[in-house]
Amino acid sequence: MVYDLHCHSNASDGELSPLQLVSRAIDKGVRVLAITDHDTVAAYTCLDNRYDKDYLTLIPGIEISAVWRRQSIHVVGLNINLHLSQLAEIVQSQAQVRECRARMIGDKLAKRGINDAYEEALKLADGGMIGRPHFAQFLMSSGYVKSLDEAFNRYLGDTKLSGLNKNWPDLEQAVGWITDLGGIAVLAHPNKYKLTRTKLHQLLSDFKTAGGQAMEVISGSQTPDVTDNLADVCISFDLYASCGSDFHSPQQQWIELGKFSNLPKKCRPVWSLWET
Ligand code: AMP
Ligand code: MN
Ligand code: MN
Ligand code: MN
Repeated sequence: MVYDLHCHSNASDGELSPLQLVSRAIDKGVRVLAITDHDTVAAYTCLDNRYDKDYLTLIPGIEISAVWRRQSIHVVGLNINLHLSQLAEIVQSQAQVRECRARMIGDKLAKRGINDAYEEALKLADGGMIGRPHFAQFLMSSGYVKSLDEAFNRYLGDTKLSGLNKNWPDLEQAVGWITDLGGIAVLAHPNKYKLTRTKLHQLLSDFKTAGGQAMEVISGSQTPDVTDNLADVCISFDLYASCGSDFHSPQQQWIELGKFSNLPKKCRPVWSLWET
């Protein structure tokens, strides 16, 4: 059984429409999929029943942007209730933070001689949640950089855009939102934050105290020693384990829906919380 519990559609910074994403997941043999767009659940309203429900089970999801001790972090919410009115409020409040941040990015780029970045990024977001990848795309297509990596390294990384994270909700708030929506809070891609072991343990301890229940032990392709280490951390904090590709686009050929190793047997999979 292939579970992919982390991926993106063009409702945020992914390339594919929700329906294209779901079709590709089915093509790749994924049987349980969570679309976890950044701060939005718009993908779910586009899908209705237009996919093979006998083959694929969709788990309603979201990836909330948050901050912990000035470090930007992501908390995935799985199996959230899409029909609660708080959800619309949460999405709207996150959209405001994104909008304001995008304008600030535009201003910063203008100071470096790059004009109209906000307007161009907004066009690329095309009504979806605007994010740094839309700026990166603009910087690439306008010839300022040659790759997304270069865009992040030279213009868009956390260190280049200091002060950018201060408006995100804190960890407790983000976890609280997900719990209030009836969902399971999952710490996304712990390895991406480049934290020391001690800091990661502090983060997980705070996450647990806030009501977090799971962490991603697998995020895309990673080395077996990373998996083994994260599995041990997951067990030591008595958390459930999740896995996902964090797929954004078919152009990133090294990341594919459903393509990652199995969760280590020693972990309790997060889906045991909703499968009985
Ligand atoms: P944002 O949600 O606006 O903070 O942008 C973060 C998103 O940018 C992540 O979810 C990734 O999709 C993307 N991203 C982050 N770092 C890089 C990078 N070095 N190269 C390409 N994309 C990146
Ligand atoms: Mn993204
Ligand atoms: Mn993320
Ligand atoms: Mn993601």
